Amino acid sequence: MLTTDQIHLDVRKLDAELAGSAYGPSDEGYDAARVAWNLAVDQRPAVVVSVRTVADVQAVVRYAAASGLRIAPQGTGHNAAALGSLDRTILLKTHEMREVTVDAEAKVARVEAGAVWLDVTTKTAPHQLVPTLGSAHDVGVVGFTLGGGFCWLGRKHGLSSDNVVAIELVTADGEHVRVTEADDTGLFWALRGGGGSFGVVTAMEIKLHHEPEIYTTSMMFGIERATEVLDLWSRFVDTIGDETTTYVRMLKVPPIPEMPEPLRGGHFINVEIVHLGSEMDGLRTSHPFRDLGPHVEMLDGMQDAVSLSYFHMDPPEPVPAVGGAHMMLDELDAEAIQALVAAGSDPRSPLLMVEVRHIGGALARDGAVPSALGKLQGKFVTFAGGMAMDADMAVAVESQLEKVEAMLAPWDNGSRYLNFTEHPTNPRIFYASERYARLRDVKAAVDPTDVFQSNHPIAPSP
Ligand SMILES: Cc1cc2nc3c(=O)[nH]c(=O)nc-3n(C[C@H](O)[C@H](O)[C@H](O)COP(=O)(O)OP(=O)(O)OC[C@H]3O[C@@H](n4cnc5c(N)ncnc54)[C@H](O)[C@@H]3O)c2cc1C
Repeated sequence: MLTTDQIHLDVRKLDAELAGSAYGPSDEGYDAARVAWNLAVDQRPAVVVSVRTVADVQAVVRYAAASGLRIAPQGTGHNAAALGSLDRTILLKTHEMREVTVDAEAKVARVEAGAVWLDVTTKTAPHQLVPTLGSAHDVGVVGFTLGGGFCWLGRKHGLSSDNVVAIELVTADGEHVRVTEADDTGLFWALRGGGGSFGVVTAMEIKLHHEPEIYTTSMMFGIERATEVLDLWSRFVDTIGDETTTYVRMLKVPPIPEMPEPLRGGHFINVEIVHLGSEMDGLRTSHPFRDLGPHVEMLDGMQDAVSLSYFHMDPPEPVPAVGGAHMMLDELDAEAIQALVAAGSDPRSPLLMVEVRHIGGALARDGAVPSALGKLQGKFVTFAGGMAMDADMAVAVESQLEKVEAMLAPWDNGSRYLNFTEHPTNPRIFYASERYARLRDVKAAVDPTDVFQSNHPIAPSP
Protein backbone atom coordinates (compact mmCIF):
# COMPACT_ATOMS: atom_id res chain seq x y z
CA MET A 1 0.00 0.00 0.00
CA LEU A 2 1.33 3.47 -0.86
CA THR A 3 1.97 6.24 1.66
CA THR A 4 0.37 9.67 1.16
CA ASP A 5 3.61 11.07 -0.35
CA GLN A 6 3.92 8.16 -2.75
CA ILE A 7 0.28 8.67 -3.77
CA HIS A 8 1.10 12.29 -4.62
CA LEU A 9 3.98 11.25 -6.91
CA ASP A 10 1.96 8.48 -8.47
CA VAL A 11 -1.04 10.71 -9.14
CA ARG A 12 1.17 12.84 -11.39
CA LYS A 13 2.09 9.68 -13.32
CA LEU A 14 -1.55 8.59 -13.52
CA ASP A 15 -2.60 12.06 -14.67
CA ALA A 16 -0.06 11.92 -17.51
CA GLU A 17 -1.66 8.68 -18.73
CA LEU A 18 -5.21 10.07 -18.86
CA ALA A 19 -7.29 12.02 -21.35
CA GLY A 20 -9.03 13.26 -18.19
CA SER A 21 -7.39 14.48 -14.97
CA ALA A 22 -6.25 13.10 -11.62
CA TYR A 23 -5.68 15.06 -8.41
CA GLY A 24 -4.25 14.19 -5.01
CA PRO A 25 -5.16 16.15 -1.86
CA SER A 26 -2.23 18.55 -2.22
CA ASP A 27 -2.93 19.34 -5.89
CA GLU A 28 -4.53 22.56 -7.00
CA GLY A 29 -7.80 21.44 -8.53
CA TYR A 30 -8.46 18.73 -5.91
CA ASP A 31 -11.11 20.77 -4.09
CA ALA A 32 -13.05 21.66 -7.23
CA ALA A 33 -12.84 18.10 -8.54
CA ARG A 34 -14.15 16.39 -5.38
CA VAL A 35 -17.39 18.40 -5.04
CA ALA A 36 -20.61 16.37 -5.02
CA TRP A 37 -24.05 17.54 -6.18
CA ASN A 38 -25.05 17.27 -2.54
CA LEU A 39 -23.04 20.18 -1.15
CA ALA A 40 -23.66 19.00 2.42
CA VAL A 41 -21.22 16.14 1.78
CA ASP A 42 -17.54 17.01 2.18
CA GLN A 43 -15.98 14.05 0.36
CA ARG A 44 -12.20 13.77 0.74
CA PRO A 45 -10.91 10.90 -1.39
CA ALA A 46 -7.27 9.75 -1.48
CA VAL A 47 -7.33 10.61 -5.20
CA VAL A 48 -10.02 12.11 -7.42
CA VAL A 49 -10.07 11.36 -11.13
CA SER A 50 -12.29 12.79 -13.82
CA VAL A 51 -12.33 10.25 -16.66
CA ARG A 52 -13.07 10.95 -20.32
CA THR A 53 -12.60 7.57 -21.98
CA VAL A 54 -12.87 3.85 -21.35
CA ALA A 55 -9.06 3.72 -21.48
CA ASP A 56 -9.00 6.26 -18.62
CA VAL A 57 -11.22 4.00 -16.53
CA GLN A 58 -8.96 1.03 -17.27
CA ALA A 59 -5.90 3.08 -16.24
CA VAL A 60 -7.60 3.91 -12.93
CA VAL A 61 -8.39 0.24 -12.32
CA ARG A 62 -4.71 -0.66 -12.93
CA TYR A 63 -3.58 2.18 -10.68
CA ALA A 64 -5.94 1.07 -7.90
CA ALA A 65 -4.62 -2.49 -8.10
CA ALA A 66 -1.02 -1.27 -7.90
CA SER A 67 -1.62 1.15 -5.04
CA GLY A 68 -4.04 -0.86 -2.90
CA LEU A 69 -6.74 1.79 -3.20
CA ARG A 70 -10.44 1.19 -3.84
CA ILE A 71 -12.55 2.91 -6.52
CA ALA A 72 -15.84 4.74 -5.96
CA PRO A 73 -17.54 5.57 -9.29
CA GLN A 74 -19.66 8.72 -9.13
CA GLY A 75 -21.77 10.45 -11.77
CA THR A 76 -23.22 13.52 -10.05
CA GLY A 77 -22.97 12.87 -6.32
CA HIS A 78 -26.74 13.00 -5.70
CA ASN A 79 -26.31 10.02 -3.36
CA ALA A 80 -22.88 10.97 -2.00
CA ALA A 81 -24.21 11.10 1.59
CA ALA A 82 -24.38 7.31 1.75
CA LEU A 83 -20.89 6.68 0.38
CA GLY A 84 -18.89 6.69 3.63
CA SER A 85 -15.17 7.36 4.11
CA LEU A 86 -13.03 7.73 0.98
CA ASP A 87 -9.70 7.80 2.88
CA ARG A 88 -8.27 4.88 0.89
CA THR A 89 -10.42 5.35 -2.21
CA ILE A 90 -10.13 6.88 -5.67
CA LEU A 91 -13.25 8.89 -6.43
CA LEU A 92 -13.86 8.22 -10.13
CA LYS A 93 -16.03 10.99 -11.57
CA THR A 94 -17.73 10.33 -14.90
CA HIS A 95 -19.34 13.73 -15.61
CA GLU A 96 -17.06 14.36 -18.62
CA MET A 97 -18.44 11.25 -20.39
CA ARG A 98 -21.87 12.54 -21.42
CA GLU A 99 -22.43 11.46 -25.01
CA VAL A 100 -25.95 10.29 -25.85
CA THR A 101 -26.93 8.72 -29.18
CA VAL A 102 -30.51 7.89 -30.08
CA ASP A 103 -31.68 5.17 -32.46
CA ALA A 104 -35.21 6.45 -32.93
CA GLU A 105 -36.29 3.49 -35.02
CA ALA A 106 -35.11 0.90 -32.50
CA LYS A 107 -36.29 3.18 -29.63
CA VAL A 108 -32.97 2.78 -27.83
CA ALA A 109 -30.51 5.38 -26.51
CA ARG A 110 -26.85 4.69 -25.75
CA VAL A 111 -25.94 6.84 -22.79
CA GLU A 112 -22.41 7.38 -21.51
CA ALA A 113 -21.72 6.99 -17.80
CA GLY A 114 -21.87 10.67 -16.83
CA ALA A 115 -25.02 11.67 -18.72
CA VAL A 116 -27.91 13.11 -16.71
CA TRP A 117 -31.57 12.73 -17.62
CA LEU A 118 -31.70 16.12 -19.34
CA ASP A 119 -28.88 15.05 -21.71
CA VAL A 120 -31.12 12.16 -22.79
CA THR A 121 -34.49 13.90 -22.93
CA THR A 122 -33.03 16.73 -25.04
CA LYS A 123 -32.13 14.13 -27.68
CA THR A 124 -35.30 12.02 -27.45
CA ALA A 125 -37.98 14.74 -27.30
CA PRO A 126 -37.86 15.61 -31.04
CA HIS A 127 -38.84 11.97 -31.75
CA GLN A 128 -41.68 11.97 -29.19
CA LEU A 129 -39.65 9.35 -27.35
CA VAL A 130 -39.37 9.35 -23.58
CA PRO A 131 -36.85 7.51 -21.37
CA THR A 132 -37.69 6.21 -17.91
CA LEU A 133 -36.62 9.46 -16.26
CA GLY A 134 -37.06 10.34 -12.61
CA SER A 135 -38.16 13.57 -11.01
CA ALA A 136 -34.91 15.56 -11.39
CA HIS A 137 -33.36 16.67 -14.68
CA ASP A 138 -29.80 16.44 -13.33
CA VAL A 139 -29.74 13.00 -11.69
CA GLY A 140 -27.29 10.63 -13.40
CA VAL A 141 -28.92 8.03 -15.67
CA VAL A 142 -26.43 5.33 -14.70
CA GLY A 143 -26.52 5.80 -10.90
CA PHE A 144 -30.32 6.09 -11.01
CA THR A 145 -30.73 2.94 -13.12
CA LEU A 146 -28.20 0.83 -11.19
CA GLY A 147 -30.32 1.50 -8.08
CA GLY A 148 -33.65 0.69 -9.77
CA GLY A 149 -35.16 3.97 -10.93
CA PHE A 150 -38.58 5.13 -9.74
CA CYS A 151 -39.77 6.99 -12.82
CA TRP A 152 -42.76 8.89 -14.17
CA LEU A 153 -43.32 6.16 -16.77
CA GLY A 154 -42.76 3.36 -14.26
CA ARG A 155 -46.33 2.30 -13.55
CA LYS A 156 -46.75 1.63 -17.28
CA HIS A 157 -43.22 0.62 -18.34
CA GLY A 158 -41.52 -0.57 -15.13
CA LEU A 159 -38.46 0.51 -13.17
CA SER A 160 -35.66 2.13 -15.11
CA SER A 161 -33.59 -1.01 -14.38
CA ASP A 162 -36.22 -3.01 -16.28
CA ASN A 163 -35.65 -0.80 -19.32
CA VAL A 164 -32.00 -1.64 -19.96
CA VAL A 165 -30.86 -3.35 -23.15
CA ALA A 166 -27.10 -3.54 -22.53
CA ILE A 167 -24.48 -2.36 -20.06
CA GLU A 168 -20.83 -1.65 -20.84
CA LEU A 169 -18.45 -1.72 -17.90
CA VAL A 170 -14.85 -2.07 -16.81
CA THR A 171 -14.53 -4.94 -14.35
CA ALA A 172 -12.03 -5.40 -11.50
CA ASP A 173 -9.59 -7.21 -13.82
CA GLY A 174 -9.56 -4.18 -16.15
CA GLU A 175 -11.59 -5.85 -18.93
CA HIS A 176 -14.15 -3.76 -20.83
CA VAL A 177 -17.24 -5.91 -21.35
CA ARG A 178 -20.76 -5.45 -22.69
CA VAL A 179 -23.45 -7.49 -20.93
CA THR A 180 -27.00 -8.11 -22.12
CA GLU A 181 -29.93 -10.35 -21.37
CA ALA A 182 -27.88 -13.20 -22.89
CA ASP A 183 -25.26 -12.88 -20.11
CA ASP A 184 -25.19 -15.97 -17.94
CA THR A 185 -22.75 -14.76 -15.27
CA GLY A 186 -25.39 -12.94 -13.24
CA LEU A 187 -23.75 -9.58 -13.94
CA PHE A 188 -26.57 -8.17 -16.11
CA TRP A 189 -29.02 -9.32 -13.44
CA ALA A 190 -27.00 -7.78 -10.58
CA LEU A 191 -26.37 -4.43 -12.25
CA ARG A 192 -30.09 -3.78 -12.62
CA GLY A 193 -31.04 -2.73 -9.10
CA GLY A 194 -27.99 -4.07 -7.27
CA GLY A 195 -26.16 -0.73 -7.40
CA GLY A 196 -22.59 0.23 -8.23
CA SER A 197 -20.63 -2.57 -6.51
CA PHE A 198 -19.74 -4.60 -9.61
CA GLY A 199 -17.54 -2.44 -11.83
CA VAL A 200 -17.35 0.97 -13.48
CA VAL A 201 -20.22 1.31 -15.93
CA THR A 202 -19.02 3.25 -18.97
CA ALA A 203 -22.31 3.28 -20.92
CA MET A 204 -25.83 1.87 -20.94
CA GLU A 205 -28.28 1.21 -23.72
CA ILE A 206 -31.76 2.04 -22.49
CA LYS A 207 -35.25 1.64 -23.92
CA LEU A 208 -37.26 4.66 -25.04
CA HIS A 209 -41.03 4.81 -25.18
CA HIS A 210 -43.22 6.46 -27.79
CA GLU A 211 -45.41 8.68 -25.64
CA PRO A 212 -46.67 11.50 -27.87
CA GLU A 213 -49.13 12.77 -25.25
CA ILE A 214 -48.10 13.47 -21.66
CA TYR A 215 -50.59 15.40 -19.57
CA THR A 216 -49.45 16.81 -16.22
CA THR A 217 -50.96 18.90 -13.51
CA SER A 218 -49.60 20.18 -10.20
CA MET A 219 -52.11 21.55 -7.71
CA MET A 220 -51.25 23.47 -4.55
CA PHE A 221 -53.63 23.57 -1.59
CA GLY A 222 -53.06 25.50 1.65
CA ILE A 223 -51.41 23.27 4.26
CA GLU A 224 -54.50 23.58 6.50
CA ARG A 225 -56.26 21.34 3.95
CA ALA A 226 -53.65 18.56 4.21
CA THR A 227 -55.94 15.98 5.85
CA GLU A 228 -58.73 16.54 3.33
CA VAL A 229 -56.34 16.32 0.35
CA LEU A 230 -54.49 13.25 1.64
CA ASP A 231 -57.76 11.52 2.40
CA LEU A 232 -58.92 12.05 -1.20
CA TRP A 233 -55.49 11.09 -2.58
CA SER A 234 -55.39 7.83 -0.59
CA ARG A 235 -58.67 6.79 -2.26
CA PHE A 236 -57.83 8.30 -5.67
CA VAL A 237 -54.82 5.98 -6.13
CA ASP A 238 -57.14 2.96 -6.17
CA THR A 239 -59.10 4.38 -9.11
CA ILE A 240 -56.29 5.08 -11.58
CA GLY A 241 -54.78 2.93 -14.33
CA ASP A 242 -51.10 2.23 -14.99
CA GLU A 243 -50.87 5.20 -17.35
CA THR A 244 -51.40 7.58 -14.41
CA THR A 245 -48.78 8.36 -11.74
CA THR A 246 -49.28 10.58 -8.73
CA TYR A 247 -47.15 12.00 -5.92
CA VAL A 248 -48.20 14.17 -2.99
CA ARG A 249 -46.02 16.30 -0.75
CA MET A 250 -46.23 18.88 1.98
CA LEU A 251 -43.98 21.65 0.83
CA LYS A 252 -42.58 24.91 2.17
CA VAL A 253 -41.87 27.27 -0.70
CA PRO A 254 -38.85 29.47 0.08
CA PRO A 255 -39.58 33.23 0.35
CA ILE A 256 -37.25 34.08 -2.53
CA PRO A 257 -37.95 36.31 -5.55
CA GLU A 258 -37.51 33.38 -8.01
CA MET A 259 -40.75 31.87 -6.66
CA PRO A 260 -44.02 33.14 -8.17
CA GLU A 261 -46.05 35.46 -5.93
CA PRO A 262 -48.99 33.18 -5.05
CA LEU A 263 -46.57 30.53 -3.74
CA ARG A 264 -43.65 32.54 -2.35
CA GLY A 265 -43.05 31.79 1.33
CA GLY A 266 -46.18 29.61 1.55
CA HIS A 267 -46.76 26.18 3.08
CA PHE A 268 -48.76 23.86 0.85
CA ILE A 269 -49.89 20.36 0.15
CA ASN A 270 -49.09 19.65 -3.49
CA VAL A 271 -50.68 16.94 -5.66
CA GLU A 272 -48.90 16.02 -8.90
CA ILE A 273 -50.44 13.88 -11.61
CA VAL A 274 -48.75 12.64 -14.77
CA HIS A 275 -51.06 10.95 -17.25
CA LEU A 276 -49.74 9.22 -20.37
CA GLY A 277 -52.65 10.10 -22.63
CA SER A 278 -54.69 12.92 -24.09
CA GLU A 279 -55.37 16.25 -22.43
CA MET A 280 -59.05 15.40 -22.18
CA ASP A 281 -58.30 12.12 -20.38
CA GLY A 282 -55.79 13.90 -18.14
CA LEU A 283 -58.31 16.57 -17.19
CA ARG A 284 -60.91 13.91 -16.50
CA THR A 285 -58.50 11.85 -14.39
CA SER A 286 -57.38 14.81 -12.28
CA HIS A 287 -60.81 16.45 -11.82
CA PRO A 288 -61.43 15.20 -8.25
CA PHE A 289 -58.62 17.47 -7.04
CA ARG A 290 -59.67 20.38 -9.25
CA ASP A 291 -63.17 20.03 -7.79
CA LEU A 292 -61.64 20.41 -4.33
CA GLY A 293 -60.58 23.95 -5.30
CA PRO A 294 -56.77 24.25 -5.26
CA HIS A 295 -55.13 27.54 -4.25
CA VAL A 296 -53.08 27.34 -7.47
CA GLU A 297 -52.93 24.86 -10.37
CA MET A 298 -49.55 24.99 -12.12
CA LEU A 299 -48.05 23.75 -15.36
CA ASP A 300 -51.40 22.34 -16.31
CA GLY A 301 -51.01 20.95 -19.81
CA MET A 302 -49.08 18.73 -22.17
CA GLN A 303 -45.37 18.01 -21.76
CA ASP A 304 -42.56 16.52 -23.79
CA ALA A 305 -39.61 14.57 -22.39
CA VAL A 306 -37.65 17.77 -21.67
CA SER A 307 -40.36 19.68 -19.80
CA LEU A 308 -41.24 16.49 -17.90
CA SER A 309 -37.64 16.56 -16.57
CA TYR A 310 -38.47 19.81 -14.73
CA PHE A 311 -42.09 19.14 -13.79
CA HIS A 312 -41.43 18.09 -10.15
CA MET A 313 -39.46 21.30 -9.47
CA ASP A 314 -36.54 19.54 -7.82
CA PRO A 315 -33.66 21.91 -7.01
CA PRO A 316 -32.33 23.37 -10.29
CA GLU A 317 -28.73 23.44 -8.99
CA PRO A 318 -26.59 21.50 -6.49
CA VAL A 319 -27.72 22.13 -2.90
CA PRO A 320 -26.70 21.08 0.64
CA ALA A 321 -29.50 18.54 1.08
CA VAL A 322 -30.27 16.28 4.02
CA GLY A 323 -32.81 13.58 3.24
CA GLY A 324 -34.39 10.76 5.19
CA ALA A 325 -37.62 9.44 6.72
CA HIS A 326 -37.69 7.07 3.79
CA MET A 327 -39.83 3.99 4.19
CA MET A 328 -42.24 1.81 2.26
CA LEU A 329 -45.86 1.63 3.42
CA ASP A 330 -48.49 -0.96 2.53
CA GLU A 331 -51.42 1.28 3.41
CA LEU A 332 -52.40 4.86 4.12
CA ASP A 333 -55.28 4.64 6.59
CA ALA A 334 -56.80 7.53 8.55
CA GLU A 335 -54.21 7.24 11.36
CA ALA A 336 -51.33 7.16 8.87
CA ILE A 337 -52.73 10.29 7.24
CA GLN A 338 -52.86 12.01 10.63
CA ALA A 339 -49.25 11.04 11.29
CA LEU A 340 -48.19 12.34 7.88
CA VAL A 341 -50.04 15.61 8.36
CA ALA A 342 -48.41 16.07 11.77
CA ALA A 343 -45.02 15.35 10.17
CA GLY A 344 -45.47 17.70 7.24
CA SER A 345 -47.54 20.62 8.47
CA ASP A 346 -45.60 21.78 11.55
CA PRO A 347 -44.70 25.44 10.86
CA ARG A 348 -41.63 25.20 13.15
CA SER A 349 -40.19 22.15 11.39
CA PRO A 350 -36.93 22.75 9.48
CA LEU A 351 -38.05 20.25 6.81
CA LEU A 352 -38.92 21.71 3.41
CA MET A 353 -40.88 18.71 2.24
CA VAL A 354 -42.49 15.46 3.31
CA GLU A 355 -43.37 13.43 0.23
CA VAL A 356 -45.37 10.29 -0.54
CA ARG A 357 -45.30 8.56 -3.92
CA HIS A 358 -47.80 5.98 -5.02
CA ILE A 359 -46.17 2.81 -6.40
CA GLY A 360 -48.28 0.04 -7.98
CA GLY A 361 -48.56 -0.86 -11.65
CA ALA A 362 -45.42 -2.22 -13.32
CA LEU A 363 -43.27 -0.76 -10.50
CA ALA A 364 -44.78 -3.42 -8.25
CA ARG A 365 -44.41 -6.29 -10.75
CA ASP A 366 -41.25 -8.15 -11.74
CA GLY A 367 -39.99 -7.14 -15.18
CA ALA A 368 -39.90 -9.59 -18.10
CA VAL A 369 -36.12 -10.08 -17.75
CA PRO A 370 -35.19 -11.00 -14.15
CA SER A 371 -33.20 -8.33 -12.29
CA ALA A 372 -31.75 -7.93 -8.80
CA LEU A 373 -34.43 -5.49 -7.64
CA GLY A 374 -37.37 -6.76 -9.68
CA LYS A 375 -40.02 -4.57 -8.09
CA LEU A 376 -40.67 -2.14 -5.26
CA GLN A 377 -42.12 -3.71 -2.11
CA GLY A 378 -45.09 -1.68 -0.88
CA LYS A 379 -47.91 0.57 -2.03
CA PHE A 380 -46.36 3.92 -1.08
CA VAL A 381 -42.88 5.29 -0.57
CA THR A 382 -42.09 8.19 1.76
CA PHE A 383 -39.21 10.63 1.76
CA ALA A 384 -38.52 13.94 3.51
CA GLY A 385 -35.77 16.51 3.50
CA GLY A 386 -34.43 19.92 4.25
CA MET A 387 -31.42 22.11 3.59
CA ALA A 388 -28.25 22.25 5.70
CA MET A 389 -26.89 25.73 5.05
CA ASP A 390 -24.71 25.30 8.17
CA ALA A 391 -23.88 22.66 10.79
CA ASP A 392 -26.70 23.72 13.15
CA MET A 393 -29.27 23.40 10.39
CA ALA A 394 -27.92 19.96 9.50
CA VAL A 395 -28.41 18.82 13.10
CA ALA A 396 -31.93 20.33 13.23
CA VAL A 397 -32.97 18.65 9.96
CA GLU A 398 -31.48 15.27 10.98
CA SER A 399 -33.24 15.39 14.32
CA GLN A 400 -36.59 16.29 12.72
CA LEU A 401 -36.17 13.47 10.19
CA GLU A 402 -35.72 11.04 13.08
CA LYS A 403 -38.93 12.35 14.64
CA VAL A 404 -40.82 11.92 11.36
CA GLU A 405 -39.48 8.38 11.04
CA ALA A 406 -40.74 7.58 14.53
CA MET A 407 -44.15 9.08 13.70
CA LEU A 408 -44.52 6.93 10.57
CA ALA A 409 -42.94 3.79 12.07
CA PRO A 410 -46.26 1.97 12.74
CA TRP A 411 -46.86 1.79 8.95
CA ASP A 412 -43.28 0.94 7.93
CA ASN A 413 -43.33 -2.40 6.06
CA GLY A 414 -39.61 -2.90 6.77
CA SER A 415 -38.42 -2.67 3.17
CA ARG A 416 -36.31 0.17 1.73
CA TYR A 417 -35.48 1.43 -1.75
CA LEU A 418 -31.76 1.91 -2.49
CA ASN A 419 -32.04 5.18 -4.42
CA PHE A 420 -34.03 6.93 -1.69
CA THR A 421 -31.66 5.81 1.08
CA GLU A 422 -29.25 8.61 1.86
CA HIS A 423 -27.46 7.17 4.89
CA PRO A 424 -25.05 4.25 5.09
CA THR A 425 -27.43 1.31 5.51
CA ASN A 426 -27.14 -2.47 5.53
CA PRO A 427 -28.11 -3.23 1.90
CA ARG A 428 -29.80 -6.47 2.97
CA ILE A 429 -32.91 -4.33 3.62
CA PHE A 430 -33.33 -3.51 -0.10
CA TYR A 431 -33.76 -7.11 -1.26
CA ALA A 432 -35.52 -10.39 -0.58
CA SER A 433 -33.00 -12.68 1.15
CA GLU A 434 -32.35 -15.00 -1.81
CA ARG A 435 -31.71 -12.02 -4.11
CA TYR A 436 -29.30 -10.50 -1.59
CA ALA A 437 -27.42 -13.81 -1.32
CA ARG A 438 -27.16 -13.99 -5.14
CA LEU A 439 -25.88 -10.40 -5.31
CA ARG A 440 -23.10 -11.33 -2.87
CA ASP A 441 -22.23 -14.39 -5.00
CA VAL A 442 -22.01 -12.27 -8.17
CA LYS A 443 -19.84 -9.76 -6.30
CA ALA A 444 -17.54 -12.57 -5.13
CA ALA A 445 -17.23 -13.79 -8.72
CA VAL A 446 -16.50 -10.42 -10.38
CA ASP A 447 -14.84 -8.38 -7.60
CA PRO A 448 -13.60 -10.79 -4.92
CA THR A 449 -11.21 -8.25 -3.34
CA ASP A 450 -13.95 -5.60 -3.12
CA VAL A 451 -12.24 -2.92 -5.20
CA PHE A 452 -15.46 -1.10 -6.06
CA GLN A 453 -16.98 0.98 -3.28
CA SER A 454 -20.58 1.92 -3.92
CA ASN A 455 -23.00 4.07 -1.95
CA HIS A 456 -24.78 0.91 -0.81
CA PRO A 457 -22.04 -1.72 -0.96
CA ILE A 458 -22.67 -5.39 -1.60
CA ALA A 459 -19.93 -7.39 0.16
CA PRO A 460 -18.60 -10.51 -1.62
CA SER A 461 -19.98 -13.75 -0.23
CA PRO A 462 -17.37 -15.68 1.81
C1 LIG B 1 -33.31 15.84 -6.16
C2 LIG B 1 -33.34 14.34 -6.28
C3 LIG B 1 -34.35 13.73 -7.00
C4 LIG B 1 -34.39 12.34 -7.13
N1 LIG B 1 -35.41 11.73 -7.80
C5 LIG B 1 -35.45 10.38 -7.91
C6 LIG B 1 -36.52 9.72 -8.58
O1 LIG B 1 -37.45 10.34 -9.08
N2 LIG B 1 -36.49 8.37 -8.65
C7 LIG B 1 -35.45 7.63 -8.11
O2 LIG B 1 -35.47 6.41 -8.23
N3 LIG B 1 -34.45 8.24 -7.47
C8 LIG B 1 -34.42 9.59 -7.35
N4 LIG B 1 -33.41 10.18 -6.66
C9 LIG B 1 -32.37 9.34 -6.08
C10 LIG B 1 -31.28 9.07 -7.12
O3 LIG B 1 -31.76 8.17 -8.08
C11 LIG B 1 -30.06 8.47 -6.42
O4 LIG B 1 -29.51 9.46 -5.60
C12 LIG B 1 -29.04 7.97 -7.44
O5 LIG B 1 -28.08 7.21 -6.75
C13 LIG B 1 -28.40 9.13 -8.15
O6 LIG B 1 -27.51 8.68 -9.13
P1 LIG B 1 -26.33 9.68 -9.55
O7 LIG B 1 -25.45 8.96 -10.48
O8 LIG B 1 -26.91 10.97 -9.94
O9 LIG B 1 -25.62 9.89 -8.13
P2 LIG B 1 -24.18 9.46 -7.63
O10 LIG B 1 -24.12 9.86 -6.20
O11 LIG B 1 -23.16 9.99 -8.54
O12 LIG B 1 -24.17 7.89 -7.78
C14 LIG B 1 -24.82 7.06 -6.84
C15 LIG B 1 -24.15 5.70 -6.88
O13 LIG B 1 -24.38 5.09 -8.14
C16 LIG B 1 -23.26 4.29 -8.49
N5 LIG B 1 -22.71 4.77 -9.76
C17 LIG B 1 -22.88 5.96 -10.35
N6 LIG B 1 -22.24 5.98 -11.55
C18 LIG B 1 -21.65 4.78 -11.68
C19 LIG B 1 -20.86 4.16 -12.70
N7 LIG B 1 -20.53 4.80 -13.81
N8 LIG B 1 -20.44 2.90 -12.51
C20 LIG B 1 -20.76 2.21 -11.39
N9 LIG B 1 -21.50 2.74 -10.40
C21 LIG B 1 -21.95 4.00 -10.55
C22 LIG B 1 -22.24 4.42 -7.38
O14 LIG B 1 -22.39 3.33 -6.49
C23 LIG B 1 -22.64 5.72 -6.71
O15 LIG B 1 -22.26 5.78 -5.35
C24 LIG B 1 -33.37 11.56 -6.52
C25 LIG B 1 -32.36 12.18 -5.78
C26 LIG B 1 -32.35 13.55 -5.64
C27 LIG B 1 -31.27 14.18 -4.80
